[in-house]
Amino acid sequence: MDQNPNRYTITAALPYTNGPVHIGHLAGVYVPADIYARYQRLQNKDVAFICGSDEHGVAITLKAKKEGITPQEVVDKYHTIIKKSFEDFGISFDNYSRTSAEIHHKTASEFFKKMYDAGQFIEEITEQLFDEEANQFLADRFVIGTCPKCGHEEAYGDQCENCGTSLNATDLINPRSVISGNKPVLKKTKHWFLPLDRYEDFLREWILVDHKKDWKTNVLGQCKSWIDDGLRPRAVTRDLDWGIPVPVEGADGKVLYVWFDAPIGYISSTKEWAAREDKNWEDYWKDKNTKLLHFIGKDNIVFHCIIFPAMLKAEGSYILPENVPANEFLNLEGNKISTSKNWAVWLHEYLEDFPNQQDVLRYTLTANAPETKDNDFTWADFQARNNNELVAIFGNFINRVMVLTDKYYEEIIPEPATLSEIDEQTLNELKAYPTVIASSIERYRFREAQAELMNVARLGNKYLADEEPWKTIKTDEERTKTVMYIALQIASALAILSEPFLPFTSEKLKNMLNVRSSPSTALRTGSVETSLGWNDVSSKSELLKPGHKINKAELLFSKIEDEQVEKQLDKLKQTKMDNSTNNNEIASAKNSQVTPQKETIQYDDFAKLDMRVGTIIEAEKMPKADKLLVLKVDTGLDVRTIVSGIAESFKPEEIIGKKVTVLANLAPRKLRGVESQGMILMTENTEGKLVFVNPDTSAPLSANGVENGATIN
Ligand SMILES: [Zn+2]
Repeated sequence: MDQNPNRYTITAALPYTNGPVHIGHLAGVYVPADIYARYQRLQNKDVAFICGSDEHGVAITLKAKKEGITPQEVVDKYHTIIKKSFEDFGISFDNYSRTSAEIHHKTASEFFKKMYDAGQFIEEITEQLFDEEANQFLADRFVIGTCPKCGHEEAYGDQCENCGTSLNATDLINPRSVISGNKPVLKKTKHWFLPLDRYEDFLREWILVDHKKDWKTNVLGQCKSWIDDGLRPRAVTRDLDWGIPVPVEGADGKVLYVWFDAPIGYISSTKEWAAREDKNWEDYWKDKNTKLLHFIGKDNIVFHCIIFPAMLKAEGSYILPENVPANEFLNLEGNKISTSKNWAVWLHEYLEDFPNQQDVLRYTLTANAPETKDNDFTWADFQARNNNELVAIFGNFINRVMVLTDKYYEEIIPEPATLSEIDEQTLNELKAYPTVIASSIERYRFREAQAELMNVARLGNKYLADEEPWKTIKTDEERTKTVMYIALQIASALAILSEPFLPFTSEKLKNMLNVRSSPSTALRTGSVETSLGWNDVSSKSELLKPGHKINKAELLFSKIEDEQVEKQLDKLKQTKMDNSTNNNEIASAKNSQVTPQKETIQYDDFAKLDMRVGTIIEAEKMPKADKLLVLKVDTGLDVRTIVSGIAESFKPEEIIGKKVTVLANLAPRKLRGVESQGMILMTENTEGKLVFVNPDTSAPLSANGVENGATIN
């Protein structure tokens, strides 16, 4: 295979349209794919960067049912949101289609038919649950019943969410239909299967031998384990009314399985684009000189490395992917990103809080890209990356260059004098970067590539710091001109080389320097004379000629303040509290073991309690007792010893000086030989954490001032 072809078909995983996209999607798939596509375009390659919404499948129909709308309304809603998020973040798809589009139905249908006619499927009659009232077969998720394993009464037909067991709908005790609530009956149904076992030898050879060296180890590892486990026939059709009808006789009420139609979406999206751009789509899918690449997350490896290639091979006229550079997962603040728990940074929400700061997120996500293992996104790191790298290194360099050029030369590139050894050395270093960065990108190492990009800005900063043009301007005008000329060459190299990573910044910087990239990726037209390509940075003796007029500076990056980060952390904290409240509600609704309320007492009983506000003045651990602290508490009456069972929640040194509510007239009792003279009131907060019942003031609490619901510890 040609290692440096001229045509690239680059696909990014089709997002499933049952929710918006978040930073995990961006980091895992769309930013790396976009860096790659933008880079290849700058290399003057013929690129088709293809994506679209994945709009079929039972999960969509369930969501629609839940929300009381049609599946089409569900996919319309999320298709619009997702498409806009990609546009907002500069993901430069050449085409973004959707699998509900007519061209896709036609393409997937024909793909199936060709395989069917060639005898590539096996037919099998199985018994499946059928709802007689609704007159339809029930997908696994449409059946609920009692789990045979744990007795949970609301287990789904594919899994019990209580004990986690994978199930078949027919395993459920007392199954009932989600649609009608009736007991479903078993009914025979015919389906078509892709006999993956027939492709085992081909897959083993193609992946584990031919691509042993150039595919990522995480991808090879997953493929090997799937193949070694033995591949089995997989149903390509199912009984459902949302999807692409199976185009053969006797298949009424059946559609193509979503896993079968979705990857064909890459092909139909390419067709849609080619028709619009007057190109031949087959060049991008059937010419062996085209390099086909699938950018995906690790949950999609089996579909893109095993199943889709088997389909392409079976169909017979398509090329196979040259690489599938799948990423691992991104976590958020130490926890797995979860749509259902709302534990995510949603792209459309990010832009509300950080308008026009797309590149900061792109930068942070690439710097922490989960390329070889799962990685963590934290807001503290986001702030540090922005303030210490984008602002302090990249932004600082460009700002100095722009300000000084304006101040000394009224925005005209000065004529250099003879170059010094340092100047020559700096320019030589600069010329090495396009190759260095390219080599990392070509190997899908985007973190490494972006780190090298920042080294270009570092080179510029160091050069200015060493040559100090703000000092030499007073003593040596000619030297100053040379230094600023060199610094401007570095700035224009940054404008070009940053384009794949920081497209918005690159665009601003090109505007400021009055250049454009070649081949042009900008929408803007006008009288820009200087166009620069990726390789010009290495090959041209100068990028900006003396006499070239640049424009006014714009701010590239701005500092992110602590308050902005705290706001994001508060949002997540709130999410956590909401989740734990929900869980508690669910737990109390389901769990009959919740302690019932105690017997009612009269006011006189309550009035007997003598509550005081005290201050903890000493605290130490009770020897040989994990849970107990021995406290000395100043109650205002006296200083007394209280033994409290809070050692697992508080360290002694943390609570000295703390104001607490004390039940002062509790009969003394001995705990581990120490007499406890009273009790500290404690309760649990919404996160289930033990907290003090805090007095607001230093005044002694009146008897009715005790917080409701407080439990006495
Ligand atoms: Zn169970």
